[in-house]
Amino acid sequence: MRRAGAFLLGLLFMASFPVAMPALADTPLDLRGRMEQGGLVVGQAAPGAKATLDGMALDVDEAGTFAFGFDRDHGAQAKLNVTYADGSTVERLLAVKAREWQIQRVEGVPQKFVSPPPEAMAQIARSTALKDEARKTRAAGTDFTGEFIWPATGPISGVFGSQRYYNGEPRRPHYGVDVAAPTGTPIRAPAAGIVTLASEEMYFEGGLIFLDHGQGVTSLMMHMSRIDVKAGQRVAQGDVLGAVGGTGRATGPHLHWGLYWRGAWLDPQLLVGPMEEAIAASGGN
Ligand SMILES: [Zn+2]
Repeated sequence: MRRAGAFLLGLLFMASFPVAMPALADTPLDLRGRMEQGGLVVGQAAPGAKATLDGMALDVDEAGTFAFGFDRDHGAQAKLNVTYADGSTVERLLAVKAREWQIQRVEGVPQKFVSPPPEAMAQIARSTALKDEARKTRAAGTDFTGEFIWPATGPISGVFGSQRYYNGEPRRPHYGVDVAAPTGTPIRAPAAGIVTLASEEMYFEGGLIFLDHGQGVTSLMMHMSRIDVKAGQRVAQGDVLGAVGGTGRATGPHLHWGLYWRGAWLDPQLLVGPMEEAIAASGGN
């Protein structure tokens, strides 16, 4: 009788605290993406979860979806902590693979873009202020979870992470992928998102767009000859954002596609398939 009593008491306890019971095992955590320098990772926990990466609070949506990324120079390890709605926690140590970077020498750059003259400082300051303002907010939504497409097709003329020398002078690494294409070639949204900056007058970038795919995972399109969208506008994947050009610090018409997440520069090429396939799919152009 004693045992039966204890069993019944146990049942009662379970019935009174139904939420407390699943806590023991119900801590789902799925991570997909590239655990390497320049890689974007998409995480899926559970509704109501919170997460931090190396102590920094991540944006996690109601469904428990979140993004994070690893800068070009990220160290070998990162620590992800997830706290679930019931208070249970999971800690994961992530191994971040190191990559090797190319050296690229770019010659024939107009000297005003290598060592800007004093009269350029006002325009550079305006450009910086616009970018800083756009980076202050992060869009809601999780458009970064889907497949990305190449925003334009053509020969890849510059890869992410390479150490760059302009006219022989070392400058910061190349934070993006370059696609050579004629001026006027349409640039399409690689994924849906909100345009957070659209300006034709940036000193180094020329015509520049920021497209936030959610939680600050943001595409940058540079050197554009034409911009067809406005800041605040929502675009779908494949929508035309504008056209390829050679404005700003460029030696010829090409698209520079950059990607950043909360201060970390990521490699957009890791998100898309081989260029040859994209060219074949577009009918050989
Ligand atoms: Zn570039």
